[in-house]
Amino acid sequence: MGLRMKSGSRMCRVLGLAALGMALLASGVGAQGSKSPAAKKVEKPARPKLVVLLVVDQMRGDYVDKFRGQWSGGLKRLLAEGAWFRAAAYPYAATETCVGHSTISTGSFPASHGMVANAWWDREQQKMVTCTSDPNAKNMAYAGGSTKGGDSAWRMQVPAYAEELKFQTGGATRVVTFSMKARSAITLAGHKGDAVTWVDPSGALVTSSVFGTMPFVEEFAKKNPVAQDFGKKWSLSLPETAYSYDGSATGAATVDGWTTFPHDLRGKEGGAAPDAAYYEQWGMSPFADTYLTKLAEAAVDSLGLGKSGATDFLGVSYSSVDHVGHTFGPRSWEIQDILVRLDKDLGELLAFLDKKVGAGNYVVALSADHGVAPIPVDMQKTGVDAGVLSLPELQLRIEKALEPLNYAKPVVARMAGNEVYFSEGVYGRLKADPAAMKVVLDAILTMPGVAAVYRAEELGNGTTPIAQTRKAAVLSYFGGRSGDLYVLQKPYWLMDSSPEGSKRVTGTGHGTPYNYDQHVPVFFMGFGIQPGEYFEPVTPADIAPTLAALTGVTLATRDGRVLAEALKKAAKKE
Ligand SMILES: [Zn+2]
Repeated sequence: MGLRMKSGSRMCRVLGLAALGMALLASGVGAQGSKSPAAKKVEKPARPKLVVLLVVDQMRGDYVDKFRGQWSGGLKRLLAEGAWFRAAAYPYAATETCVGHSTISTGSFPASHGMVANAWWDREQQKMVTCTSDPNAKNMAYAGGSTKGGDSAWRMQVPAYAEELKFQTGGATRVVTFSMKARSAITLAGHKGDAVTWVDPSGALVTSSVFGTMPFVEEFAKKNPVAQDFGKKWSLSLPETAYSYDGSATGAATVDGWTTFPHDLRGKEGGAAPDAAYYEQWGMSPFADTYLTKLAEAAVDSLGLGKSGATDFLGVSYSSVDHVGHTFGPRSWEIQDILVRLDKDLGELLAFLDKKVGAGNYVVALSADHGVAPIPVDMQKTGVDAGVLSLPELQLRIEKALEPLNYAKPVVARMAGNEVYFSEGVYGRLKADPAAMKVVLDAILTMPGVAAVYRAEELGNGTTPIAQTRKAAVLSYFGGRSGDLYVLQKPYWLMDSSPEGSKRVTGTGHGTPYNYDQHVPVFFMGFGIQPGEYFEPVTPADIAPTLAALTGVTLATRDGRVLAEALKKAAKKE
């Protein structure tokens, strides 16, 4: 260090020698008066000591403009000191958690990384599989907790940036990721990782046999059981006048044991010990975000992240905003308050990193995996067409439409979100039978709330996209995993899989190619970043290529690009 290289090509030739020289220096051999010319000429390129990738699950892009006045911590700091891409949006249709995290972590779209949904219909096994379920992995709980199943990133078709960072820097990089959700922690890390940790619904910290356990997580889990927040209260952080909208959101879903603020974390009956309802309350409370923040800080301390000489990787996906958004919607005091609390946590995390790694020595990227729709009944108040589209009812219509044409029931194997999967052989028959296909498509198109239906062969064979929404569905299509048909609802309509005759879904959701689901924030701050507001339309797939550029990593597949406009141009000196 402190010496300058004259040219890149020379650096290539002397790098090996330099490494040897450094090793000798470190071991004390020939350290005194060493005049090795190689050692003198080589300078390691400047790299961040730590890459911090933060995801806020379900943080819609417009929240920044709407609620920034309520923030004083980390989100405010990202606005003040970072690069803010105001017009960042996913260009694809499958705006779901597993898809968004995989896009952020790999720099590619679902048509490339293959994580097309949180769960899809496995045609071979004739059952639904989650994006991270792995029959060869076994989940393991820390601190004597319980868990089940097995999860890994084996279904992800391309490596995550974090994996490439570790691989290309020779393994010195530590990859550490945390989330409430398995699919978030796992996809941020990739196929391997050093401390890939999530929280089981039972409150246990969990990893899987694919990643292995870490002593510092065991220690943290023992010292900080999730049950210790039992009895706490989630109260408003700001005076009531600071919040927009009504204190009670129209169309909100119910949470056992909660009415209006303050929300007690005391389980279903306000009892004396944690029950299942307590763990659900905790997962949609600010305490879950604080918990992840403390866990991340423990990782930095225990592993000495940012101190190894290599670039380490810390990924944290904050999940509670998603649970709050689904339940209370985007026009609620709950969503505003959980962001106020998250902003505080992020402020603490950044201050902690300043102290431990050094301000300017690390780079932070923050984004979201998707946005969220307004609650349909809330939207209806404006007079706009909005509603809930029953998937079981749609399935019944398709079955009935084919009844006179001698198709054996059931013709539909599974309705999964926007995807229709036909029973084995049915779709092939429909493709050869235009009259029957028309009957099916008409049955779908006449269903209230349906905007369009796209056939697999229109999405999978590179057909020139006509509508933006079809282009979005093309980017989400992965052969073999996606459905035979893609049913697009109208804007402000939600898909509802509740069985016929049962209570319709309340609260809201996401997963469409409409802006409220696609528009998310993208922030960068710290090492190598040129602060400012950027108005170019970018996508979260640009995050990994940008981090790769800052760390000298090459990504094989990438649908994103390097956000060069937000990178500092180094002054050239001779
Ligand atoms: Zn999500």
